[in-house]
Amino acid sequence: AGGQADNLRDVAPVTRCGTRVLLLGNIEFPHEAPHCLDRGAEGVGLYRTEFLYVNKTADPTEAEHYEAYKSVLTALGPDRPVVIRTLDIGADKFSAVSGLLSAEKNPFLGLRSVRLCLKNLVLFKTQLRAILRASVYGDARLMFPMVSTVMELRQCKSLLAEVKEDLEEARIPFKPDLPIGTMIEVPSAALIADVLAREVDFFSIGTNDLVQYTLAADRNNENVAGLYNPADPAVLRLMKMVCDAAATENITVNVCGEMSGEPLYVPLLIGLGIRQLSATPRKIPELKRTIRNLTVADAERIARESMRMETAREVTTYLREQLRRIL
Ligand code: PEP
Ligand code: MG
Repeated sequence: AGGQADNLRDVAPVTRCGTRVLLLGNIEFPHEAPHCLDRGAEGVGLYRTEFLYVNKTADPTEAEHYEAYKSVLTALGPDRPVVIRTLDIGADKFSAVSGLLSAEKNPFLGLRSVRLCLKNLVLFKTQLRAILRASVYGDARLMFPMVSTVMELRQCKSLLAEVKEDLEEARIPFKPDLPIGTMIEVPSAALIADVLAREVDFFSIGTNDLVQYTLAADRNNENVAGLYNPADPAVLRLMKMVCDAAATENITVNVCGEMSGEPLYVPLLIGLGIRQLSATPRKIPELKRTIRNLTVADAERIARESMRMETAREVTTYLREQLRRIL
């Protein structure tokens, strides 16, 4: 590669006014973990574990889960966070494998992700057990995707507690204080962020799904691509609610959808109070450059202005102008 962005690998993502931001990488396979470090990420903010299903005809075994997590945690070392997300299968993702799925009319509104896991406890507990066992190898964190109600989150947590008890009885080591987070990617979750914030150690906003579900526009359907926009005022309002709720409960908010990989949105996200972004590793240098040219005061002004706007187009045009001014 080479070029200007690569020179940024060894400098920290600090704003011009000295505020530290944490930049993490999204990965789908263990072999991608070193790419995060090569690009200057300080950890893995989203490990999409459903990719254990690639080229598989059966559910992964506990050993397969465990080896994958252990290898990522070992690659990252003791001081870099690795956020392991539990299986997000269903809808478009590996839905054929797990025998549970019957054909659904609206799979994106159907048995996907934690919904599917909570109906298949063997599958879910196998994964939780492997994550707990691997957690001793580094700075592991656990995250639940597609949570829509507080009851779902509580069920996930109580299953985790059961698995911890089993491991204790069997004298198998794990990290007892493994941090727990929930993704915020369904509008209902954003709307009850104040309630969810009391249940977890961190939030991670999944904008790919949050945009899709807020605007009722399939993220993969070209026909409605015009509606699908992270800068839509409805999405921004939900994100602000999430950031405010997290600030009240003093928990961190990460953003890990495609939105967080776009320098365009960095000032807005920092202005909303977000101090942690997770993106495809190759995006990290650009994000860092943007952060290093920004002040928090600028970002807060940009977020305030954006929140007053009425259309996605207005917001996007404004953010483009601001980015040009900053860089
Ligand atoms: C998201 O929805 O933004 C997200 C990060 O999860 P995924 O893209 O894996 O659905
Ligand atoms: Mg998602």
